[in-house]
Amino acid sequence: MFRFHSIKDYHTALIAEQVTCIQAVNFYLDQISAHADLNAFLEVFAEEAMAAAQSLDSSRAKGDAMGKLHGVVIGIKDVLCYQGHKVSAASKILENYTAAYTASAVQALIDEGAIIIGRQNCDEFAMGSSNENSAYGPVKNALDNTRVPGGSSGGSAVSIQAQLCMISIGSDTGGSVRQPADFCGVIGLKPSYGRISRYGLIAYASSFDQIGIFSTTIADAALVLEVMAGADEFDSTVSQQPVPSYTKALAANNVPKKIAYFKETLEHPGLDPEMKTKTLAYITDLKEKGFEVDAIDFSLLSFLVPTYYVLTTAEASSNLSRFDGIKFGHRTKETLDDLTELYKKSRTEGFGEEVQRRILLGTFVLSAGYFDAYFTKAQQVRQKLVDLTNTLFASYDILISPTVPTPAFKLGENNHTPTEMFLADIYTVYANLVGIPAISIPLFTHSNGLPFGLQIMSAGFNETGLLSFAANAMDSRKA
Ligand code: GLN
Repeated sequence: MFRFHSIKDYHTALIAEQVTCIQAVNFYLDQISAHADLNAFLEVFAEEAMAAAQSLDSSRAKGDAMGKLHGVVIGIKDVLCYQGHKVSAASKILENYTAAYTASAVQALIDEGAIIIGRQNCDEFAMGSSNENSAYGPVKNALDNTRVPGGSSGGSAVSIQAQLCMISIGSDTGGSVRQPADFCGVIGLKPSYGRISRYGLIAYASSFDQIGIFSTTIADAALVLEVMAGADEFDSTVSQQPVPSYTKALAANNVPKKIAYFKETLEHPGLDPEMKTKTLAYITDLKEKGFEVDAIDFSLLSFLVPTYYVLTTAEASSNLSRFDGIKFGHRTKETLDDLTELYKKSRTEGFGEEVQRRILLGTFVLSAGYFDAYFTKAQQVRQKLVDLTNTLFASYDILISPTVPTPAFKLGENNHTPTEMFLADIYTVYANLVGIPAISIPLFTHSNGLPFGLQIMSAGFNETGLLSFAANAMDSRKA
């Protein structure tokens, strides 16, 4: 039977003719059908994936050079445009929308020989932490299907957890790659803001959004990042900084040694006590291994979630105004004479409750009487956080914290108040507020049997340091 360990091993097996791309695609198509109850995929591009596999197998047989992602079977979150394919942001408002062009990041994968196997379920417009906000039903955690997989990229995380594809591509505005990775026991990487082009990524909050990667090994995440990162004439906010070879950097094994953690993150009353104990034990262990680990005061912890939700809802209310039933999106079937009524009815029918809440909240914080009290204040806090981050990384290489304060919760459990759900983002939103890279790696298991991760962050554009530290941490866990 086909088994996937890493892209490198898969390529070795392809070259040795022990396996074919067709066998790989067949394996994943069977897996997706066998696990249909998880609701991880909204659509599977079965025929197309088989045709791509066929053509890759024959080009390899002819001796053609293999791309970096030759035959790598990848699932993409339903917020990434892929020309000629539906993309709905898991919303009714875009139910029958077909992408007119391909996201630059997706194109980069295809250009290196990747096979796109389908689009993955998520929270509507990437707003949520449990995948319960999808208009197409929740995704279930493969380890315990009464629990959530996390969100918003829940389908993408479960796809790695349940082996429905080799790599998933998600998006992370405030934790949507790292939090579901933590809940599902897989790796989730959010690169620096601007490391990967956002062209063709349906916008939620443009100054926070970043495409991210789910994988089972750090080496795979590094390789996929290398392929997707870099300048792009279609995104003016993407960095022009050259892309280092993350793969080579990993091989050099230059593990950063100066580590910090914010004391308040581990003292937070919302943190599960066992997760606290295990994270502290891990810190002791790091010190014994020769790392310098310092506890740093961080008085702004309680400001993170409010600042994040003021700014992201403001940006969302502006970004989502294009879905009005005229320019874009679902239009009500009712005949209405008044244009405002037509907008209202179409948007009421098309948007789910959480998306409506955020548009309202965002419009409120941007409104004339409240702009300075909320939006301007939040911008000031964001600047303060950036300054503090620059100071921190002048002395330290790596910042660590838990990824989420609790392991995966039950479906429906965290749903009674939206603020409860928002507060669970306490550890992840920081990296998006200041634009630094962050990764969640599955280091721990709770006594209730659920996995949980360690979050690792570094200075902006120091993905090499981040990945080297993460790879070392994963290897020492195995040892
Ligand atoms: N849970 C956060 C939110 O709902 C993060 C979402 C994301 O990263 N896309 O906004």
